[in-house]
Amino acid sequence: MIIGAGAAGLMCAIECGRRGRSVLVIDHAERTGSKIRISGGGRCNFTNLLVTADHYLSRNAHFCRSALARFTPRDILSFVENHHIAYYEKEAGQMFCVKSSREIVAALEQECGRTGVEIRLTCRVSDISHAGVFMVTTSEGMFSSDSLVIATGGLSYSKLGASGFGHDVARKFKLKVTQVRPALVPFVFQGPDQKVFKGLAGIAFDAAVSVGRKKYRGNILFTHRGLSGPAALQASLYWESGGPLQIDLLPALDIHSAFLSARQSKMEMHTLLAGHLPKRFVQTWCDHMINSKPINQCSDKELKEIADGLHAWEIIPKGTEGYDVAEVTAGGVNTDELSSKTMEAKKVPGLYFIGEVVDVTGLLGGYNLHWAWASGHAAGQLA
Ligand SMILES: Cc1cc2nc3c(=O)[nH]c(=O)nc-3n(C[C@H](O)[C@H](O)[C@H](O)COP(=O)(O)OP(=O)(O)OC[C@H]3O[C@@H](n4cnc5c(N)ncnc54)[C@H](O)[C@@H]3O)c2cc1C
Repeated sequence: MIIGAGAAGLMCAIECGRRGRSVLVIDHAERTGSKIRISGGGRCNFTNLLVTADHYLSRNAHFCRSALARFTPRDILSFVENHHIAYYEKEAGQMFCVKSSREIVAALEQECGRTGVEIRLTCRVSDISHAGVFMVTTSEGMFSSDSLVIATGGLSYSKLGASGFGHDVARKFKLKVTQVRPALVPFVFQGPDQKVFKGLAGIAFDAAVSVGRKKYRGNILFTHRGLSGPAALQASLYWESGGPLQIDLLPALDIHSAFLSARQSKMEMHTLLAGHLPKRFVQTWCDHMINSKPINQCSDKELKEIADGLHAWEIIPKGTEGYDVAEVTAGGVNTDELSSKTMEAKKVPGLYFIGEVVDVTGLLGGYNLHWAWASGHAAGQLA
């Protein structure tokens, strides 16, 4: 029995079905694979050719290795090809559907049908007990099974059926759950910063965002309330409440050298900066952060300070946009509790946890879906 008909649950169901197991998948949502459908803007970044354990955060950095080694990007590409789904590489290993992620959901459902997997939707679980076998009480009656797979994902996007159910099941069976938090999520600025920068909503440019020693290069996007874009989203994986973000607004340029080259110039600072950054951003920056004047009227100290400010803009966000908007939940069932080979709980034989509910969180770029496939595949070899 598998609870959760998302990426991990469906992949696990198919593998169990292929082994001739009798498989029931239940989900409280009205449709299967809700998150797959909206992933990657509806085109679903379903894997990344560069997948390694280094692309995941977990209290145990090695935990995901075994599952990833036994289900590679080539495996999911073969599945996609066998179902005649057109795909393409968007950038640096990120594989997307050409048409729609619905094709992947349809392929998973078709494969479930072929392997005899039964799926029951809008089915609510009210209780789970274990006495030799697992007894699962649901809105459609009671089911028993010698294997129970929890594939209910994390807390983000509750409007799509996300719940803390999997964490609660783990706790019920006395398994540790790490602290969880929304991740791959936009930042919200403090009030005064919000006031200054809200006019820039929609402006995006290349930058590098650091949290401690982790640094991500890519676009940042100003929103009405703060900062989004790939580099900011990645940084959110490591950000802890109250901590600072450091942003290099010109990662491709040594702006201090550019200032020194223009040392004798009567050019206004904002004119020089507008050659490297969007004009509207430069206007706001110059109005609020520096005293723009002709370069030749700036002191050496001023030039150095302005350059430092541009290469290491420090902000302390008020918070993040939270689980409503987060792509993933960081943290989850503590990997110490699980076999890295099978995802089975060490203390509770027959109980498995797969996908996002586990404390394994991928970077942006197809790594989270790949973990869902790989962990579902691993559990599907034994459950
Ligand atoms: C907007 C958005 C875009 C994303 N884009 C990408 C992307 O392009 N690439 C990528 O790799 N990752 C992406 N992700 C992350 C990725 O979708 C998830 O990490 C992945 O789907 C997790 O798979 P899962 O099977 O573990 O959980 P889920 O897909 O969340 O599936 C869990 C299932 O369990 C069900 N469930 C929950 N609670 C209960 C309960 N109490 N009873 C019964 N059923 C329950 C849910 O209804 C759901 O069907 C994105 C996420 C979001 C929100």
